[in-house]
Amino acid sequence: MTQMLNRRSFLKLSSTAAAVAGMSSVPGLLGALEPEKKALIGNAQFTASVCEMCSTRCPIEARVENKEGVFIRGNPKSKGTGGRVCARGGSGFNQLYDPQRIVKPLMRVGERGEGKWKEVSWDEAYTFIATKLNGIKEKYGAHTVAFSAKGGWETDYLVNFAGGFGSPNTFDHGTTCPLAYGVALTTVFGTSGVSRDFGKCKYMINLGHNVYEGIVISYARAITEAVENGCKLISLDPRYSVLSSKATEWHPVRPGGDVAFVLALINVLITENLYDKKFVEKYCEGFDELKASVATYTPEWASKECDISAKDIKRIALEYAKAAPAAMIDYGHRVTYTPEEIELRRAIVIANVLIGNIEKPGGFYFNKGASMYNKLAGEKVALSLKSLKVPEFKKFMNLNASTVLIYPIVSLAIFLKSSGIYQKNSRCYS
Ligand code: SF4
Repeated sequence: MTQMLNRRSFLKLSSTAAAVAGMSSVPGLLGALEPEKKALIGNAQFTASVCEMCSTRCPIEARVENKEGVFIRGNPKSKGTGGRVCARGGSGFNQLYDPQRIVKPLMRVGERGEGKWKEVSWDEAYTFIATKLNGIKEKYGAHTVAFSAKGGWETDYLVNFAGGFGSPNTFDHGTTCPLAYGVALTTVFGTSGVSRDFGKCKYMINLGHNVYEGIVISYARAITEAVENGCKLISLDPRYSVLSSKATEWHPVRPGGDVAFVLALINVLITENLYDKKFVEKYCEGFDELKASVATYTPEWASKECDISAKDIKRIALEYAKAAPAAMIDYGHRVTYTPEEIELRRAIVIANVLIGNIEKPGGFYFNKGASMYNKLAGEKVALSLKSLKVPEFKKFMNLNASTVLIYPIVSLAIFLKSSGIYQKNSRCYS
């Protein structure tokens, strides 16, 4: 008998087959919800929470039906995100309730790569890990174990734990993403707590900070707002990214050539007297040294390094200075991974300082907590939140995440979490 399959039944059949195949190859179907599906009852109640699907941690709200989360939306009170979430954030419950999600410890029982695992108790898992770690410590020294976590509060636990164990080697999100600009901001301002007022900017130079394919919704919204309000957006990116497609100008800079471009821009600002002299005299140190250090970095020199013409470099520097202080070179995130990474971010920050865009609309500003707002307002207009308390472990040394290693690592202990709480019955609306 010929069996007729329409598209819907075919898809249903193939997804069932794929699910069964997938289940049989995955160790332990540990987080499965009951398959029973009930019609949803009407419910307009949303619970406020924070998305943990990436490090941006957008404010969200979750709709809960029959004690199960069913829908995530952005928190409408959040001005920065405009009450939006990205596709990843909106699908957070898929991860929380994924039937293949691992919610109990698994121990490998076969050969590495063989895919054979067995479920063990938490006690068994902890005992195994402790024995292994202590064995490595005894044989090679505690410093040969590196600890890694995603970031945020996990890093606090991680650093404490690594300190208790005796290893200074810790890594987290900051190590591979905001470290360079954090260090650059700290060397220039004494703090990394500096943000960008994208929304009011009138002239923005963007070096590969591709916010439209990245993760920070508030940046994407603010840059869109700026461009819609007439901001000239200059994109330097070897790739014609989505941001480049929205830019007023796109310059396919040679990979790694952005540092030369920024140094030449500083050179033009100084030699053509385009910088904010009053601001520099009042707030800056080391100007003469800076002037001497960029003297040879002319646009002509830079054009050979970055594949952008000297004429364009000069013109951009002129336009940038003319639009000040509502102008900025975005310090972005991390793009090139060259040894010049920190110097590039430092040059970017200096090029901003030179036009005096600090604490000005459309420029850079220092992050302020509730207590500062209240002080400025002269009354309590903002609530202060208490910081999260992390249990104290014995600290052996002063540790910072993102240590640089100069010797081989024997073991890497990773603190992983799958965006939320592991136990099925927990309610974490991520
Ligand atoms: S950017 Fe998306 S995934 Fe990241 S926290 Fe915001 S909503 Fe969640």
